[in-house]
Amino acid sequence: MADLPDPVALTRSLIRCPSVTPAEGGAITLLEALLTEIGFVCTRVDRGGIANLYARWGTSAPLFAFAGHTDVVPVGNLDAWSVDPFGGEERDGKIWGRGAADMKSGVASFVAACARFVQETPPEQGSICLIITGDEEGDARDGTLALLDWMRAKGEMPEFCLVGEPTCPETFGQMMKIGRRGSVNFTLTARGLGGHVAYPDRALNPLPALLKLLLRLESWELDRGNAHFDPSSLVLTSVDVGNAPTNVIPGAAQAKFNIRFNSEHRGEALVAHVASMIAETEAETGVKFEMESKISGEAFLTAPGRLSDLIGASVKAQSGLSPELSTSGGTSDARFIKDLCPVVEFGLVGKTMHQVDEHVALDDILALTEVYQDVLRRFFAR
Ligand SMILES: [Zn+2]
Repeated sequence: MADLPDPVALTRSLIRCPSVTPAEGGAITLLEALLTEIGFVCTRVDRGGIANLYARWGTSAPLFAFAGHTDVVPVGNLDAWSVDPFGGEERDGKIWGRGAADMKSGVASFVAACARFVQETPPEQGSICLIITGDEEGDARDGTLALLDWMRAKGEMPEFCLVGEPTCPETFGQMMKIGRRGSVNFTLTARGLGGHVAYPDRALNPLPALLKLLLRLESWELDRGNAHFDPSSLVLTSVDVGNAPTNVIPGAAQAKFNIRFNSEHRGEALVAHVASMIAETEAETGVKFEMESKISGEAFLTAPGRLSDLIGASVKAQSGLSPELSTSGGTSDARFIKDLCPVVEFGLVGKTMHQVDEHVALDDILALTEVYQDVLRRFFAR
């Protein structure tokens, strides 16, 4: 029998791998070696220069999946850190470093939980797989999507997937994510005809037209939310003219905005609606608009059911808290996994993710490992 991995020590080892996307940094290699030793069959599913790992224990159904990523966002302002971001220092009952919260601790916790589970109480029937990518924080083109393509081709079909992203705002056990909002980014360019401010009749100022359109967008009530989602939101992020002189009417102006949308919408329908508002504004003003849009993910919901019940029961048993079933926050790779099987996210407190001096409580890592192990016990106890 291999030694049972300690989730805190494993978190530290992973933090010491400088795996800023797209660098592997040794993190995937380390996990591959460890999981092989525990009895997982490991397959590297690298694509486009990204390291990805699929690891499976067992051969029979049902298959339970954990998913996570080992890549991290850049350090940012190194001088502002009070610790080495790749040191994995322990201080004040916490472990510090880039990826401590998002999400090397989560990966370490599910690896440790699986190791304990298969050595202490291996199920007679069933398998566990780990879907670990090195490309979540980047383009996410060759990460989880590469793994899912490979899994579909091989007929690897999990019944459920639990993603170990940090999901708790303040306290461990507070929240799980049963869905996510979709997101679409827009860039608009208004094109008129520049000229001298003394002769506005010879120009076509794009600014009033752009403002008219932006106000129209700003006052658009997308929906009022539904049982599981807050109302969708449209947020203007930039208006750029870059017109320094005071006596020149600009020829063009640009604006950017983002829509975070709930399950009442599809990205394409939102893009079409924005296009119709543009057409209206063009007809009224004579100013022409160019629109670029990029849908980075559709909204999805894993309806409350067996998976969220399982996780909720394990969290309650460990922490005494009944986690809220939330759909708030940014996107994650769950947006891809939802096409394969029901997916729920539960992990640590994410308060410091992507920040300077990112850290997580050591006790929380141990608690999360217990929760994951308990989820496996409950899932296979049938
Ligand atoms: Zn993450």
